[in-house]
Amino acid sequence: MRISVGSGPDGAGAPGRLAAVRALVFDSFGGPLEVREVPAPDPAPGGVVVQVAASGICRSDWHGWQGHDPDVVLPHVPGHELAGTVAAVGAGVSRWSPGDRVTVPFVNACGRCAQCAAGEHQVCAVQTQPGFTHWGSLAEFVALDAADVNLVAVPEELDLATAAALGCRYATAFRAVVQIGAVRPGEWVAVHGCGGVGLSAVQIARAAGARVVAVDVSPGALELARELGAEVTVDGAVDVPAAVADLTGGGVQVSLDALGAAVTSTNSIRSLRPRGRHVQVGLLPPAQGRPEVPMERVIALELQLLGSHGMAAHAYPELLGLIAAGRLQPRRLVTRELALADAPAALVEVGRRPGIAVVTSF
Ligand SMILES: [Zn+2]
Ligand SMILES: [Zn+2]
Repeated sequence: MRISVGSGPDGAGAPGRLAAVRALVFDSFGGPLEVREVPAPDPAPGGVVVQVAASGICRSDWHGWQGHDPDVVLPHVPGHELAGTVAAVGAGVSRWSPGDRVTVPFVNACGRCAQCAAGEHQVCAVQTQPGFTHWGSLAEFVALDAADVNLVAVPEELDLATAAALGCRYATAFRAVVQIGAVRPGEWVAVHGCGGVGLSAVQIARAAGARVVAVDVSPGALELARELGAEVTVDGAVDVPAAVADLTGGGVQVSLDALGAAVTSTNSIRSLRPRGRHVQVGLLPPAQGRPEVPMERVIALELQLLGSHGMAAHAYPELLGLIAAGRLQPRRLVTRELALADAPAALVEVGRRPGIAVVTSF
């Protein structure tokens, strides 16, 4: 029997009293995706349980379902791009209470290791990731670890569907463009792959004053990229580095592989002019083939090859400030709002339709 969540006598939400919650589940890699009831999560010490209001459907969820992520243990609930309200808090949590509107980066840092001590939470040595290391947010409730380190308060004026999109793709693109890519006004930026993270990068790079070349095989994705600020677009089926060099007078200063495929990664590196910076953003599961890195070109042109992995919770205020000021508009990336029952089909066809799909009805 399913019991709806409510407030306990002490006023704290108590998902521990829930018998079950609805979730998207798979029992085998690449196998059927089913919405069914699963045991309700409990908050770990230092953690919280969040009632999910919105959860994006991301290519990384697709990789997890396909068995490309060694962290995923079956049966599994995907989902890592979320926003909602705190429903229950574990022992030792000091900053959060039931009812708080929150989001979270997909990398949940421990807050204690050497990387965390240095403020580099996005590469925490003992990180957890909802939807990968444990059950995720394509469910009515999700457990999140180390809440005082990882949760981000969602401002009143920001709706939770948009806040969910920040957790993976938008924040990842922000860090890749602004912090890792260190894009400066007037520079050319190439974005290879215009899915959710790529379109986010287009908008953010344009807002940073860059001139943007968007590359994709989908005309619909390129049209959206133009709407979001791409100055020129390139059909991903042509000789991409040559086309980018033609359009930009010899290549770009910064190039992002926002898809995560051998061909887009190699094209990105080959799109750079001397002293250019390649930023690898899209995941490259070894099972899908390694990119061929033209190391002779890296040396001769003094190229920089950089990785970017999410964004720490403490880095969100700059991003939220730009959104509040209207300089960045992540809402424009959210092209579809779905019910959880629609999530299986959306996960199967991830990447086939432009923009970000977010489940907002559970
Ligand atoms: Zn850590
Ligand atoms: Zn993601």
